Amino acid sequence: MELMYSSTRNKNEKVTASQAILKGLATDGGLFVPDSIPALDVTVEELAQMSYQETAYAVMKQFLTDFTEEELKNCIDKAYDAKFDTEEIAPLVDAKGAYYLELFHGSTIAFKDMALSILPHLLITSARKNNVKNDIVILTATSGDTGKAALAGFADVEGTKIVVFYPKNGVSPIQEKQMVTQKGANTHVVGIHGNFDQAQTGVKEMFSNTALKDELAASGYQFSSANSINIGRLVPQIVYYVYAYAKLYAEGVIAKDEKVNVVVPTGNFGNILAAYYAKNMGLPIGKLICASNENKVLFDFFATGEYDKNREFILTNSPSMDILISSNLERLIYRIAGNDAEKNAELMKSLSSNGKYEITEQMKKELNDFYGNYTSEEETAAAIKALYEDTGYIIDTHTAVASGVYDKYKVATGDTETKTIIASTASPFKFTRSVMNAIDVKYDAWEDFELVDELSKIGNVAVPNAIEEIRSAEVLHNTVCEVAEMEATVKAFLGMQ
Ligand SMILES: *Cc1c(COP(=O)(O)O)cnc(C)c1O
Repeated sequence: MELMYSSTRNKNEKVTASQAILKGLATDGGLFVPDSIPALDVTVEELAQMSYQETAYAVMKQFLTDFTEEELKNCIDKAYDAKFDTEEIAPLVDAKGAYYLELFHGSTIAFKDMALSILPHLLITSARKNNVKNDIVILTATSGDTGKAALAGFADVEGTKIVVFYPKNGVSPIQEKQMVTQKGANTHVVGIHGNFDQAQTGVKEMFSNTALKDELAASGYQFSSANSINIGRLVPQIVYYVYAYAKLYAEGVIAKDEKVNVVVPTGNFGNILAAYYAKNMGLPIGKLICASNENKVLFDFFATGEYDKNREFILTNSPSMDILISSNLERLIYRIAGNDAEKNAELMKSLSSNGKYEITEQMKKELNDFYGNYTSEEETAAAIKALYEDTGYIIDTHTAVASGVYDKYKVATGDTETKTIIASTASPFKFTRSVMNAIDVKYDAWEDFELVDELSKIGNVAVPNAIEEIRSAEVLHNTVCEVAEMEATVKAFLGMQ
């Protein structure tokens, strides 16, 4: 039976998985969600025997029911190949009583590669299935990591163009260098004078602008999204939670059906939502621990039931989590409202007009699966230093937020027994300066690439290719614009003006 998708804001528009992937965002500005969350149809014993690619097929076929077996397997094989520097794709590292699920072994060394190495293939397949003749223009807002991963995924993919907007002063030096050196005639990278939320709002506005849609169509283009608002990004992210669980089982760390906790350093709420979907598919997950940095809008939400973005936007050393409007939370809100699109639409309207909304008591009860907390900048740095000094293992600033929050969780709840997976979302090499400063303040005076070599030495890990590549790479993109000029910039790239 075909699994259909509808908007979180209106039940009338029903589309197939491939159509949802193509559109990215629903016409009414809502996010596509499956009518129900399918159950896993394989046992943990079976999963324990599977490779990453086989696990991906077992999970994704349940969601992308209008893809043939051949189409889906083809997408999976093209995505999870030698671009990853380990055959395991997502290895687990046991350090100080937690299992770090390293999601950064892809080509751009952040977890965004897990989904963005497959999204272009899903999208091209979807276009073919739906007889789309237009070129697809991928519009992306990035807090640093999605941008590069999407650029790498879509560079020189026939029939696509990609435009990435990033906050000019809101990403790490390495993140920026990775993006502005991107090759590929179909790639465009633009810094905006604004923060990530403004970039994301600007992109969402272009998606729901019907006049613009018609103009694009007249020029042979249509938009799609590489942000985690696209269901084609969310579904591949469910895979690694299933894979990690099966691996812990295979290694005898957990018994059959034993619950594990999952800690996720969270920004746009995509990664943790994937873990929530995994739980709803039947994976034995206990608590979903949502870790925030000083932009702790989600911590406050879990504590009070009120989501309020009216606050100062703080630039932290975990920039990929500097977000006040967590788009994917909308998919959770919809679900805890009992799949009530009308209720969700009302709350999202309040968010866009007043910057806040409050959920009902009934909905709040549905949040029991989650625990939220945050770390200050000092606590994040201390988490890196402590883990390094105790074990020699070096984590990046985002993973450190999760690690610090996990410690707080154990103190607050007394739950020290449940085996716990911490999503490790970026290589420390991507945030070298912040990581090294956390270990020792003396590094503050060092040059960026000196720090890279020193990190390799003290952490005893080779410098990843993604970093070697940018040592001497030429800057190919230098466009900067105001938030109000985003649409004009896109049109100019597409030769529409
Ligand atoms: C994107 C990102 C996050 C946040 O993930 P969401 O799915 O947006 O919640 C955390 N850490 C890193 C390194 C990231 O790139």
